[in-house]
Parts: sequence; C-alpha cells; structure tokens
Amino acid sequence: MGRSNSGKSSAINAIAQRQGLARTSKTPGRTRLLNFFELGANRRIVDLPGYGYASAPEAERRTWTPLAEALGHRRSLRGLFVIVDARRGVTAADEGLLDWSSPDHRIHVLLSKADKLNRSESLEVLRAATQALAGRGASVQLFSAHSKVGIADAQSVLTAWLEDKPTAQDSVALRK
Ligand code: GDP
Repeated sequence: MGRSNSGKSSAINAIAQRQGLARTSKTPGRTRLLNFFELGANRRIVDLPGYGYASAPEAERRTWTPLAEALGHRRSLRGLFVIVDARRGVTAADEGLLDWSSPDHRIHVLLSKADKLNRSESLEVLRAATQALAGRGASVQLFSAHSKVGIADAQSVLTAWLEDKPTAQDSVALRK
C-alpha cells in the first residue's frame, strides 16, 4: 500500500526479484485494481491502488476503500507493507491508512527512493518516520529499488510474515 507514485510497483519487483512483475508507471494513479503476484504456493503479494493523489481524491476513495476493506478482512493477510516516498516522509494520507488498519495487522514501512537523499537526509527521514510511527508497532527502514538499498531487509520481513503460521489475531477485522 502507499500513495500513488510512491514506488509500490518498483518495490514489489525489487523484493520479488522479478523484473517486470509489477508494471511500473510514471503516471500517478495508474494501478486501479488489486494486482496479485504469486511468489509460490499460497504466497502472494497484493498491490493496492495508490491513495492520496490530489487530482482524484473522491474517485480514489471510492475505489480504494472497498478493495482494501475486502482484503483487510481476509484471514490470509499476513501484514501490510506501506511504501512512503522518503522525500515526502510520512504524510497525512499515510497516517490515515495507519489509523484505519487494525492494530493487529503487522505493518512495515519502506521509505522508498532513498537514493534521492544523501546520508544525513536519509538518517533524518528515518528518525522522523520512526518518531511518527512510534506507538503504532510498525517497523520502518530505508529502501531504494533503483540503488538496491534495503532489499534484503525487506525480503526478510516478507519471508518471516509468509512463513508465520496463521494466528487468531490474523482474522481480526479492520477497524472502521
Ligand atoms: P507506484 O505508482 O507506487 O507503483 O510507483 P512506481 O513503482 O510505478 O514508481 C513511480 C515512479 O518512481 C517511477 O518513475 C519510478 O521510476 C520511480 N521510482 C520508483 N522506485 C524508485 C527508486 O528506488 N528510486 C528512484 N529514484 N525512483 C524510483
């Protein structure tokens, strides 16, 4: 999940290590459906439509909310990757998503396009995001699909979630 143009498709391709797996686009708001990517038996990544793109907020909400709610109620949902453009940091739209998700959903935030920032800027963004996410139980890391920063860390989180056995908590519905 993430804002339109935050780098979701690029992150999926980098993490799943399959070029062209998720179509990347320079046009914000291209992904309007749920796209399922099979990693193996019963292991899938789901790419959600982007949110928070200023030109179509109402249309976007109408599309996004029912899709995400349908997904959020699935017992098979292991966790949420939230993609946040490191240059923007955690926005109100991201906070809205986090408010809406269940406290029982595991959340891992990728601060994407970290290659656009120098080292001190990256560390500052990481610090600010960690502070913004404090109390939500979310983990956060720097990530760049282009310069291959943080891919192994993101893969470790994904693998741990996918290999985890289902728990009772996983069936808890999303908070409205
Ligand atoms: P989505 O709309 O969230 O799926 O985002 P995309 O993956 O399609 O990427 C949106 C734009 O950001 C494209 O122009 C990508 O080339 C660019 N982008 C994605 N990941 C990175 C990255 O790691 N570094 C940089 N510099 N640009 C990126």
